[in-house]
Amino acid sequence: MRNDIPFLEKFMLPPDDYEIFKFGGSSLKDEERGIQTMLKYFSSYFTEEQLKENMARQNLQMMFDIVKKYFAKEYGYTGTGIELSNLYQNTINSYIYNDKVNPAFIHIDELFESTVMGFLLAMFKWSKDFGDLEIYGECFKYVLFLMNDVCIFGEMQGMDANHALMDTVNGDIQILQLAEDCYWTIVVFSLAHEIAHAYLAGIGKKYTEKHPEKEEYDADMIAYHIVLKIIMEEKGTDAVLEEYTYLAPMIYMDFFDLYYYTDRVLYKTVFHDWQHPSPVKRKNRLFAIADKDEYDFDTVDGNHLYSGFLDVYDEFKDQLLLKMERGKLDKIVWTEKRKLMRGGNDDEQKRSNGI
Ligand SMILES: [Zn+2]
Repeated sequence: MRNDIPFLEKFMLPPDDYEIFKFGGSSLKDEERGIQTMLKYFSSYFTEEQLKENMARQNLQMMFDIVKKYFAKEYGYTGTGIELSNLYQNTINSYIYNDKVNPAFIHIDELFESTVMGFLLAMFKWSKDFGDLEIYGECFKYVLFLMNDVCIFGEMQGMDANHALMDTVNGDIQILQLAEDCYWTIVVFSLAHEIAHAYLAGIGKKYTEKHPEKEEYDADMIAYHIVLKIIMEEKGTDAVLEEYTYLAPMIYMDFFDLYYYTDRVLYKTVFHDWQHPSPVKRKNRLFAIADKDEYDFDTVDGNHLYSGFLDVYDEFKDQLLLKMERGKLDKIVWTEKRKLMRGGNDDEQKRSNGI
């Protein structure tokens, strides 16, 4: 259970208003438009019917149900009252709202969905065609846009950004597949992490004021256990999660790390959060879990994918710093706007990454 709702301070919503959290936000999702975009770029691979079938087979609600099933199986926890909320509230964070009076719900923002998917597409494409200068340039620009406009300023990417990305991916079905498979593993991890907070509170687990970050590690550990169990047990042609995506939760931590890194380089924002350990620390704990003997599956393809990802992750960091130092990012840096968001506090910001 979390008490602080990350966007609360930023957007000045009245506190303790369940209705606003639960039903606040809007839906920008346009399924029909999404299908038409996919058909435009991948028409040789799918028909409209196949796309609709896919959406019915893999979707957020269904993943939520599977996660709940595994909580019952692995931890004897049913958490039946927990619902799913999925609107656009200008945050890439997921969180659980639990005031113990109203039914608890888990929020996964629409912004999260489009951002994570776009991030994976761009990073994998960049990694695959690293030697192609045009693709290199487009992918760097797009990832920078995601970090700056979308993550830092909370803006949903518009159709033009979406099309620019799809032009770069250029009908590469392999990249689409990789991104989609990793995306679902990240979704399952986030859902399980949030339910884990409710479970830990439910079994009366207490955390000291001095070490609140322990709760995050525990929630990560439970969430990753559930991801790996689903990978191992729901296999075959109808596999829920693909085995080679087992490092996707680490990629998710790297995503947050790049977001904070970009904020540091562009706006000198210092990450300071007493409750959440840094994404890098959390990532290292996840690696320790994956190494345990009880998890046995093929890791070769997953390791290969991840090492390619890490190459572009490093490249992004190097390029960002270099371009900043050379004054090449002046046009996209909105220092004043960033300062306003922080309420004028220039040196330090308490930020919660919510997950
Ligand atoms: Zn958490």
